[in-house]
Amino acid sequence: MLRVCALYPDLLSIYADRGNLLLIERRCAWRGIGVELRSVGLGQRLDPDEHDLLYLGGGQDRDQALCARDIAEVKRDALHAAAERGVVILAVCGGYQLLGHSYRLGGESLPGAGLLDVTTVREEGPRLIGNVAIEVELPQADGPRVLAGFENHGGRTVLGPDEEPLGRVLRGHGNDGRSGHEGARRGNVIGTYMHGPLLPKNAWLADWLVQRALGLDEPLAPLDDALEDAAHACARRAAGVPA
Ligand code: GLN
Repeated sequence: MLRVCALYPDLLSIYADRGNLLLIERRCAWRGIGVELRSVGLGQRLDPDEHDLLYLGGGQDRDQALCARDIAEVKRDALHAAAERGVVILAVCGGYQLLGHSYRLGGESLPGAGLLDVTTVREEGPRLIGNVAIEVELPQADGPRVLAGFENHGGRTVLGPDEEPLGRVLRGHGNDGRSGHEGARRGNVIGTYMHGPLLPKNAWLADWLVQRALGLDEPLAPLDDALEDAAHACARRAAGVPA
C-alpha cells in the first residue's frame, strides 16, 4: 500500500499538475499496488509518519503566499520529520519554491520549508516560459535519463553551496535561465519547475518515486508503456531534444 498525500491541492495545482497523482495511482493499480490518496490543506496538521509520498503542485503567487504562511506556522516540523524518515517529497514549480528557504517578490519575502538549500527571487525581466528538457542521474536508476516538460515561472531559483540540482538543462531555462541547473534534489526530496504534467510525460520517474517511497531494492515490474513512451518522445521533440 502506497500512502500519498497532496498538500494544498485546491491552491497548488496549476497546469494540470494533479495529473501527476492520477498517473501514480493508475500505474500502481496496474501492478496491484493499492494507493491511499489523501490531502492536507491550510490549518490542518500533517502527520509525518502517515505518508510515503508527499506532493505539492504549482501555484500562483497569491495562493503560494497563503501556503507559505501555513507551512511556516503549521507544517514545517512535520515536513522535516517526514524528509528525515525518507518520505518521498515531490514539489513542482510553486511547490518547489516553497520547499526552499524563501521566495522574495516585490518587497515581501515568503518563508519556505527550508527542506532544500535554495532561494527564489522574483526579478525584473520576462517569465521563464517554454518547453524544457534536462538530463538527470538518480540513484537506483539506469544511468543518465532525460526528463521533458514545460516551465512557466517568474521566480529565479539559486542553489546554495550544499545543494545538488535535479538535472542539467539540455533545452529551456531551468532554475534561473543562467546556471544550467534545473530543480534540486536532496535524497528523496525533489523540486522541479517542470509541469506537463511532469509524470505522464516521464513515466519512468513516477516508477522511480514509487520504488523509493515503498523502500524497494528492485525496480517495479515493467508495464506496456507504448503510450507513455510516445508522450515522452513528443515532449522531447517539443523541447528540441528528440530521443
Ligand atoms: N508563482 C510562481 C512563479 O511565477 C510559480 C509559478 C508556477 O507554479 N508555475 O514563479
